[in-house]
Parts: sequence; structure tokens; C-alpha cells
Amino acid sequence: MSTLVNNQNKEFSTNDIILEVQDLSFSYSRKQTLVLENVSVKFFRNNLTVIAGPNGSGKTTLMKHFNGLLLPQQGEVVVFNKQVTKKNRGEIQKLVGLVFENPEEQIFFPKVYEDVAFGPKNMRLSWEEIQDRVENALEEVQITHLKDKVTFNLSFGEKKKVAFAGILAMRPKLIIFDEPTIGIDPWTKPRMIETIRSFTRKRTVVVITHDVDVMKIADRILLMKQGKIKGDFSTYEDFQQQELLNI
Ligand code: ADP
Repeated sequence: MSTLVNNQNKEFSTNDIILEVQDLSFSYSRKQTLVLENVSVKFFRNNLTVIAGPNGSGKTTLMKHFNGLLLPQQGEVVVFNKQVTKKNRGEIQKLVGLVFENPEEQIFFPKVYEDVAFGPKNMRLSWEEIQDRVENALEEVQITHLKDKVTFNLSFGEKKKVAFAGILAMRPKLIIFDEPTIGIDPWTKPRMIETIRSFTRKRTVVVITHDVDVMKIADRILLMKQGKIKGDFSTYEDFQQQELLNI
């Protein structure tokens, strides 16, 4: 029987740890001070975790370590029991999808359908499987009506949804979103947040955000400051209280 670990009020078995960061330190150049300093944190299956914190505190740098886009200079990252290394990052990237803040960084094709199909095509799946995945992903983010549209002409919010669908179509078990609600209008945002929440039925989700509405529906909020995890909260109210005390 595996030991139990505590994520605030909830208990998880060690089998529920799907991502473990241990003593991770990183800087972009030798001259730069550490952007991540001895970060250790665990993430749990089917949880929605928010990482919050001021600009420049290292949130995006941390998330880029989750699928091998950046490799640890010190410490280690273990995802689904696999240590992230240069050698296995291709395999890791099939399990962990990153959705960037700016969709322009993730959309490469002129047509929506073609763009969402790119990931599954790269995985050398059958044509039927590719079609199935693309259609499900478009449906999940409610943009089936955009499938024949030209990506270039879409609004910023629509482009964000196309980028989401492109990642979903690869069927990752862990999805990391960087500021998913920035640039989304207030009419569409509640639906978008609901969709992100619904992803946790089948997957684990980590969201980097300053958005209080996302924090309110999270299972857990981590606070990052100056390259370190400074707080771990199970409710938005706890997070807010600590922030007011200015930890
Ligand atoms: P956050 O996501 O919390 O805003 P980042 O991880 O983007 O923080 O940035 C942390 C620090 O690392 C900042 O000081 C930023 O300027 C620096 N940084 C980010 N990306 C690079 C890069 N490619 N090269 C050099 N410095 C970088």
C-alpha cells in the first residue's frame, strides 16, 4: 500500500502523483540570477492547479520544464514516472501538452481543421483516428463551426480555442495553460473556464493565471515569487488571505 500525501485538505496516494519537480534550479544564462531556485512540488491526477504570482516570478519557465521544452540544470522533473531528459522529451511531449498565452506561437496552418490535425498527423495515426481526434477536440472547445475557416482571419479568442483544440487532439494526459483567459471576452469567458474545468474529468490540468475567476474553481493554488513556491492553498479565500498578509 502506498503512503498518503497531503494536498491541503485532500489526501492522495503516491499513485496519484503524476508530476514531481525536485530541487529544480534554472537560469537562462550564466550571468543571470536564478529564475527558478530549488523548486520542489508535486501535482496530482485529475486536479486543477493554478500557478499564480507576479510577472517575472518564473511561472512560464517552470511550466516549460514540464514537457522538456527546457531541461533542468539542477534537480529533476519526473512526469508519469519518466524523468524528463533530452533523450525522452519526444515521448514526454505526447503526454504533456502546453498551451501558450499567445496562440500565434502555436498556429501554423491556413485552415483550422488542418491546424488541429497537425499534431495527430505527426503521431502517424490512421486517417480515421486523426479525423476522430480533430472532431472531438473541436467539439470539446465548441468551435466545430470554425473548422473550415482561415486561421489568419479569426479573432484572438477564436485563435486561442484553435490552439487549445490542437493540443487536445494529441490527447495529452496533462495539459498546461499559460493565461488561457487573457484576450477572451467576458461573454465567452465563463464557458471557457467551464471547459477547462471539465478537462479534469479525463486529464490533469495546470493553469498559469492571474484571473480570480479561474482561481475560484481551482482545486489548489500555488503562489510563485522570485523563482520559488511561496504558498500552497486549497481555496481562493486562503490564497487571498495570505496575500493580504503579504507573505
Ligand atoms: P512569469 O511567467 O512568472 O512571468 P517567466 O518565467 O516568463 O516569468 O520569466 C522569469 C524571468 O526569466 C524573467 O526575469 C524573464 O525576463 C526571464 N526570462 C524569461 N525567458 C527568458 C529567455 N528566453 N531568456 C532570458 N531570460 C528570460
